[in-house]
Amino acid sequence: MSALDLARDLATGLLSLLAPRTCAACLAALPPRAAAPPGREWAALLCPPCRRGVEPIGPACPACGAPRPPFSDAVPRCGACRDRPRGEVAGTVALLRYRGPTRRLLHRVKYGGRDGACEPLGLALGRRVTAALGPPDPALVVVPVPLHLLRRWARGFNQAERMAEGVAEALGRPLWPCLARRRRTPALFGVRREARDAVVAGAFRARRDLGGRPALLVDDIRTSGATLRAAAAALVAAGAGPVVAAVVAR
Ligand SMILES: [Zn+2]
Ligand SMILES: [Zn+2]
Repeated sequence: MSALDLARDLATGLLSLLAPRTCAACLAALPPRAAAPPGREWAALLCPPCRRGVEPIGPACPACGAPRPPFSDAVPRCGACRDRPRGEVAGTVALLRYRGPTRRLLHRVKYGGRDGACEPLGLALGRRVTAALGPPDPALVVVPVPLHLLRRWARGFNQAERMAEGVAEALGRPLWPCLARRRRTPALFGVRREARDAVVAGAFRARRDLGGRPALLVDDIRTSGATLRAAAAALVAAGAGPVVAAVVAR
């Protein structure tokens, strides 16, 4: 941690002592001591209505992490990705539905100074990964999806990296921030789904050799999966074993 990061954390800490605590999704005042259910520490950051509106993903497609009804469990993949290429992403685990208070929370994490939510969300995601896939491979490394250097600098932090710290802690595996963005890519929400892979293809490179280690690729949100596929391709090109993606929301 640099001196600048330290000063920023200190200032944020001091401000949070003075400011009334507000919901990280809707900014409503929070009761003085909101109780967090064990294993859902992030819930303490939300007011009761937002907490109730967050939708954890239960049974899910192992390929893309999409929620699906439990009766279709015998089908290995969901209809949406059964005949679509997955690239180098061997599987996806997602924690929450990306809508309602979860959407507002993740927006405030990025743009509204609520990055303190990253670590508890990462811890919960790490536990979800273990519940879905079992104990981690002893060689597994946790790799955050990087921001472009300029964007990282402008925001002051990378939310995926903060979340990956929590994931790594929950799994007891090392954090390897070994990916870099070669170039800036436009925001993908204006781009047609079918065109997204082409926009981000080749956008990442790994700065070290993975030496056969399996990797858990962490990001805040999965939409089309194009970013995860491009990042996984860079990891496999640098010698990674199977790459599984873990996202807070989708
Ligand atoms: Zn709220
Ligand atoms: Zn799927």
